[in-house]
Amino acid sequence: MENMIDLHLHLDGSLTAEEIFILAKQQHLTLPSQSIDELASMLSVSSNCQDLNEYLQTFELPLLVLQTKEALTFAFSHLLARLKNQGLSYVEIRFAPQLHTRQKLSQYDVVESAVYALHQSLLQYQGEIHAQLILCCMRGENNLKQNLETVEVAKAFLGQGVCALDLAGAEGLYKTALFKPIFERAAAEGIPYTIHAGEADGPESIWEAISMGASRIGHGVQSIKDEKLMDYLAEKQMPLELCFSSNLQTRAIASAKQFPLQTFLKRGILATINTDNMTVSRTTLKHEYNLLQQTFLLSPEQNHQLQLNAIKAAFLTSVEKDMLLKNSFCPPS
Ligand SMILES: [Zn+2]
Repeated sequence: MENMIDLHLHLDGSLTAEEIFILAKQQHLTLPSQSIDELASMLSVSSNCQDLNEYLQTFELPLLVLQTKEALTFAFSHLLARLKNQGLSYVEIRFAPQLHTRQKLSQYDVVESAVYALHQSLLQYQGEIHAQLILCCMRGENNLKQNLETVEVAKAFLGQGVCALDLAGAEGLYKTALFKPIFERAAAEGIPYTIHAGEADGPESIWEAISMGASRIGHGVQSIKDEKLMDYLAEKQMPLELCFSSNLQTRAIASAKQFPLQTFLKRGILATINTDNMTVSRTTLKHEYNLLQQTFLLSPEQNHQLQLNAIKAAFLTSVEKDMLLKNSFCPPS
């Protein structure tokens, strides 16, 4: 594959058991197990995972060890090294700064550490891989202040490693519409955003994200239930960040065959393939493409289309997209 691009990848859900083990040791933290295999099984979901809420419980261990600048730098550097070794040419890594402030760090400190690690890695890799950060606001109660702070931090680092905002968390419990004030602020500040919608909630959640000015939709798989919405997505070329394994595990789709990739592609919807959480789902981007290939017998043209869609959907300038298309991303200066 000429362009391996992941636009929907969470840092915490992609930290490996080995990395968590090292980080816990460095910080003298006690883990529930000293066995890497046992840790790995705690970090991934079982085949009888019931829903998104259960899936989200696997994030507790990575968050336990990601509360210092050194740990964040370590996590980003190691993740970028793995992604480069997997052959990715471009990736947008997302995380929620407010979940890393349990000790002494401010959201600003958290993002500063992430941006530092990102720049160090990109310099080291000399254009082999390019990457940017998406900052997640969180669904939840009484967290408007923290979410607005995330918007302010995104503004401070926009174009310097941070490319966009997101809204993540339990969509079924906290409706998209509740978070409108955050994205009104983001829009006023000129920060682009994607919103997780149509994963654990229905098409109305996607319509809400659209009305709130989202540039892309995280998952959006439930748009299959709404003809008008599919027409709209195709007409506006609004990208969907699809995540196949993750959707199967959270039961956003009932079975592999029901994943609507072929329908979306046939209707001209800008569908993209992403991992969501490599460790939680025990996957890689290549594995996702292989699974989809086996399930849907994608044609070479469809495979190529998916990669082109990812370039179109990326939070990059048209000049940068051209460079990605020609596989000639320059090392950062
Ligand atoms: Zn996600």
